[in-house]
Amino acid sequence: MKRKVEEDEKNEKIVRNLMKLPSNRRCINCNSQGPQYVCTNFSTFVCATCSGIHREFSHRVKSVSMATFTAEDVAALRECGNEVINHQLPNRQTQLIIF
Ligand SMILES: [Zn+2]
Repeated sequence: MKRKVEEDEKNEKIVRNLMKLPSNRRCINCNSQGPQYVCTNFSTFVCATCSGIHREFSHRVKSVSMATFTAEDVAALRECGNEVINHQLPNRQTQLIIF
């Protein structure tokens, strides 16, 4: 059990560090500052408002401060994150469709 807690703490620390990257400092969907949630379907950082909208689409959303992140979540966030998604979807319209 202790190991699980340590693992969770380690993962949370990585997520918080990833959150500090310039590309992750803005919500992928509405561009507002300081997103506090992660949409694990797309491995993107989103704000509170957009996290609610994602939930309506049955996307999985985790609060950075409340949820625990699995090793898979962390790996996906490292590989993806807002920068990669923005790069894949340079057109804002396309982003809104996926959204
Ligand atoms: Zn937003």
